[in-house]
This record gives sequence, structure tokens and C-alpha cells, in this order.
Amino acid sequence: MTLLKKFIGKFRPNSANKHQTAPLMSTYARIPVRFVRGEGCQLWDDKGNEYLDALGGIAVCFLGHSHKSISAAISDQAQALMHTSNLFEIPEQAKLGQRFCDIAQMDAVFFANSGTEANEAAIKISRRYAHARGIDNPIVLSAEGSFHGRSFGALSATGNTAIKEGFGPLLPGFEHVPYDNLDAIREYSSNKNVVAVMIEPIQGEAGIVIPSNDYLAGLRKICDDNNWLLIVDEIQAGMGRTGRWFAYQHAGIRPDVMTAAKALGNGYPIGACAARGEAARLLNPGAHGTTFGGNPLACKVGLTVIDTIENEGLLEAASELGEFLKAALNQQIGDLDNVVEIRGQGLMLAVELTTAYENLAMQFLELGLVVNITGGAKVIRMLPSALLSKDQCEQIAMTCKRVLDNNRS
Ligand SMILES: *Cc1c(COP(=O)(O)O)cnc(C)c1O
Repeated sequence: MTLLKKFIGKFRPNSANKHQTAPLMSTYARIPVRFVRGEGCQLWDDKGNEYLDALGGIAVCFLGHSHKSISAAISDQAQALMHTSNLFEIPEQAKLGQRFCDIAQMDAVFFANSGTEANEAAIKISRRYAHARGIDNPIVLSAEGSFHGRSFGALSATGNTAIKEGFGPLLPGFEHVPYDNLDAIREYSSNKNVVAVMIEPIQGEAGIVIPSNDYLAGLRKICDDNNWLLIVDEIQAGMGRTGRWFAYQHAGIRPDVMTAAKALGNGYPIGACAARGEAARLLNPGAHGTTFGGNPLACKVGLTVIDTIENEGLLEAASELGEFLKAALNQQIGDLDNVVEIRGQGLMLAVELTTAYENLAMQFLELGLVVNITGGAKVIRMLPSALLSKDQCEQIAMTCKRVLDNNRS
């Protein structure tokens, strides 16, 4: 209650800009909370208030905050060598490349600095694939509601019209089809310009939209039948979040190209675009590159993240805790009349509501819980760390109940 009192009066609608005195571009409508410290699944703000973090930096901090192995890897590598450039061999990059290809079941990987950049590399591979076949106006099919990033290539692939507004002309060669609809994709079978399907295994930004069980396998078959590349964007769902290293592994398929980022660095920027077969050989020397991407520090962190997930059994933990949290949510709020659905796979969870409530994220913060509101402001999204305890799962579910009770008419 004291926490509640402290916050009342501080969280007011549209007060975000008043707190923003620094000369930052107004790209974010920021919530006026300033986190200064984190440990495991807990965060503290500059006033000493404690929070339970069910968002994990938007699917980034799968190992929680200030994980000792990650802090040590950063500190050790920073003292040995941080950057040399891709003009030279980088042992940490080669090691991470091998580890990453092993867990992703891919042949070769390119390291970038973000998810968007990883997707850019994937889109460039699709263009090379097209040109190798004499296709001058290639088409990549992607899904309505998808999110692939905000560079021109990734933004053009994205199936969300609102975030494209005012940026035209975009990159040509993308067509958007309804998600989780194999027939909509099959309709392009006679179109000789199509070269690839680019898809999220679970749509994250759209509000944790989980396709039918046979969707990815169906896409794999259509792509095989038509010689199209299957590009799977695992930037949000990958790196253990769904209980496997990558979500496509639940479907028993391998894409031709896949991208990862977010949890690969647990907060240190790194992205990866991996491919197999012909797609793995299309970017030859001079065709693509980056200054920072794959530097010793980033790769050391990536290696440590993979080792830590393995050593601490966090794939199993993500499955188990995901089920536990979903059950706890069902028990606490499953029957509320303002809840449409509780869904998720592993630690990628959503509570869909009947209506959009005002300042919902702030209402959660007032009760010490960090979540994200997305999906037309009707979806509570949770992407917590795999270090979550069962008590913390219960705490999340109880806080959801309090907030949703407060909003029932
Ligand atoms: C976050 C995200 C991206 C963009 O990654 P950045 O690191 O922000 O560039 C792309 N695709 C998906 C599915 C994402 O969730």
C-alpha cells in the first residue's frame, strides 16, 4: 500500500514528456519510471521501489538482470580485447558461429548488431537467391500483423501499416498475407516472382499470436514445392524462450534462413542471420559487412549466454515455468469477464482483454509489476526471464487479478 501511495499523483496520463528534459528525439512515449538496478527478475527504480520484471527488457534478458556469468564475460573480454574489425579472424566469432549453427541446425551465420540488421541480411540473401535465378522483381511474402524491424528493408517486410506511415516509398517486393493461413500462401504458387516466405513462428509485437500446430510444417512444404526460401524470424521467440532453442524446432522443421537477436546478448547488442544449403553461400566477400558486428566482446557474451542456458537447464525451465505461470494466470483471472484468452508457449505469454483500459502498464507498475501492453492495447504481454521462481509466477498472477478487478465495471 505504501508503494501505491507513493505512486499516486505521479503517474498521470500524458505526463511522460514532462520528465523528458534531455534533448532526445521523441521516438518513445516513455513511462516515467527510471530503473537503476536489476538482479535476477527484480528491478529497482531511482526512488528505491522494487519491481518484479515480467517483461525482461522485451524478451532480451532471458538470464535475468546482472547475471554473474554475463557480467564476468563482459568484464574479462573488455580487459582482453573488445574490437579489431572483420578484416581479421576473430576467434570468439568463429567459436560462437559454430555453437550457434549447432543449436540452430544451420550451416553458416553472419553476426550483426541487432534484430533488424539480421533481418536485413536475410532479405539481402533472398535478393541474391532471386538474381541467381534470373528473377529481376522478386517478391517476399510476409504476414499481416508481423514485425521485422524498422530499417527500410525490415520495415517493408513488416505487416503493420501504422509504423510505416510517412516513410514511403518503401522497398518494393513485399506482399502481405494473413498469418496462420496456408491457403493464402498457396495462392502464390503460380507466381514466378516469389522467392521467399518470411515469418515469425509466433507473432510477438502483434500480441503473442500463436499459429496452428501444422503452420510451420505446412510453410516448409509449400516452400519446398516451389523452391522458395523459408525465412524464420526468431528474434523474439528464439534462444530458449519457448522451451527449445528455436521455436521452429517444435515443428520439427529447419528454415533455409533464420534470424536471432534479443536474448542472444541478454542486453549486450548482437544479432545473427544463419542459413543452410545454397542460402548459406550467397553472401560472398564484399557482398555484405558490418563494423561492429561479431566483435570479440559481443561474441564472448553470446557464447556465455548459450553456455549458461545449457548449464542451468533453462530450456526445460522455460517450458515448465511457462506452463506453471499459465496455470496460475488461469486460476486467478481465467474466469474474469474482461479476459478473452490466456495463451502462450514457454515464457512468451499473453492475456488478451475484452477492452483497452487506460494507462494499464502504469497500473501494473503501481503494484510493482513490469509488463507490456500491446495488440491494440488489449493484450498484456509477458516475456520474463527463465530464472523466475514459482513464487514470482504466483505474484504475477495475483497482481494481474488485482489490476483486472480494479478495471471491471
Ligand atoms: C524485436 C524484433 C525485431 C527487431 O529487432 P531489433 O533488435 O529491435 O532491431 C525483429 N523481429 C522481431 C520478431 C522482433 O521481435
